[in-house]
Amino acid sequence: MTHTRSRLDRGRNALGPALELVHTGRAPTRAVLTTELGVTRATAGAVATELATLGLITVDPRPGTATGSQGRPSHRLAVAEDGPVALAAQVHTDGYRAALVGLGGRIVATAPACEAVDPDPAQVLGEVVAAGAGLLRETGRRCIGAGLAVPSAVAEPEGTALNPLHLPWPAGAPVREIFNRCLTEAGVPVEGHCGNDVNLSALAEHRHGAGQGAAHLLCVATGHRGVGGALVLDGRLHTGSSGLALEVGHLTVDPQGRPCHCGSRGCLDVETDPLALLEAAGRRPGPEGSLLDQAGALIGAEYPTDDAVRDATRQLIDRLGLGLAGLVNILNPDRIVLGGLHRALLLADAPRLRAVVAERSLWGRGGSVAILPCTLDHGSLVGAAELAWQPVLDDPLALAVTAG
Ligand SMILES: [Zn+2]
Repeated sequence: MTHTRSRLDRGRNALGPALELVHTGRAPTRAVLTTELGVTRATAGAVATELATLGLITVDPRPGTATGSQGRPSHRLAVAEDGPVALAAQVHTDGYRAALVGLGGRIVATAPACEAVDPDPAQVLGEVVAAGAGLLRETGRRCIGAGLAVPSAVAEPEGTALNPLHLPWPAGAPVREIFNRCLTEAGVPVEGHCGNDVNLSALAEHRHGAGQGAAHLLCVATGHRGVGGALVLDGRLHTGSSGLALEVGHLTVDPQGRPCHCGSRGCLDVETDPLALLEAAGRRPGPEGSLLDQAGALIGAEYPTDDAVRDATRQLIDRLGLGLAGLVNILNPDRIVLGGLHRALLLADAPRLRAVVAERSLWGRGGSVAILPCTLDHGSLVGAAELAWQPVLDDPLALAVTAG
């Protein structure tokens, strides 16, 4: 025991980094963990054992080799299948959803999505938290924290939703305070965190999706309405001095274009979102499904065959490319990940989008930036959970202190 204890003391500072390596899939075995942490095998072993004791990861007791891999056998590491979870909630233009998300960005359970948003934030957040609390009761999982994604810039340190433009909410609603009050009332006594949905989706893509390994990751995405952007620098969200950075939706991409709710004209927000595509193709929004689903389905089904849909799609691709080129010139990212309808535009004609970016960016350098589709199905929910998981990733031992 004495030996284990002293090794663990040396490895204590490595617990957080070790958990993050397993959480993001970068340490599938104890041998890789040893190398990545730059510690001795004994220390890595003690660290892995401690994380397993905390119920966060599993260590395969029998060393094995992965199929086709070279080198000596090593103990496999994985996030614990039945470990604790974060309560994640997302509110968007057309509704809201609650889920439980474990380490590794794994969605463990989801409540049925609701398809209307009440003008009172307290009503909506009360319902979504109640849905999450119901999932916790059904699954019996331990909850380590809660995260909420909203389609608005979230001002820090106040935690207020400054511009819920496509929601019937008052500007400046104190969403974090309301979210925490709802958690307490629902009998889920954990800390609640809030963030902008595209920011959170970018964080999730960086840790678990198409952004893995990027040092300067730019994400641009539509929600069901509007357009947002986010920048992840060296693994951390760049949110600016008060949480409001990367409001890319209000870049002008057509000075003669549609009036925007911000007071300007022809913003990316109104020229490249799902409603813009439907309008450009001469289609009326139908009653079934979100605008995002309708616009995505239109490209998926009719882009190859319908001239009006093809022209509309190309028009949006060109405007998106113009916006991306401006961002590339300012931010010099090493990777761009596109979500929502922008993902569908990229998949429809990637060479066209890349050509517009290259043509409009300085020295044509934009042509060398990788532009990829996002890969996570519920990036904002997974990202909301990342906010909740962050204190545990920073200090896994805090879990032992708070355990009953
Ligand atoms: Zn605007």
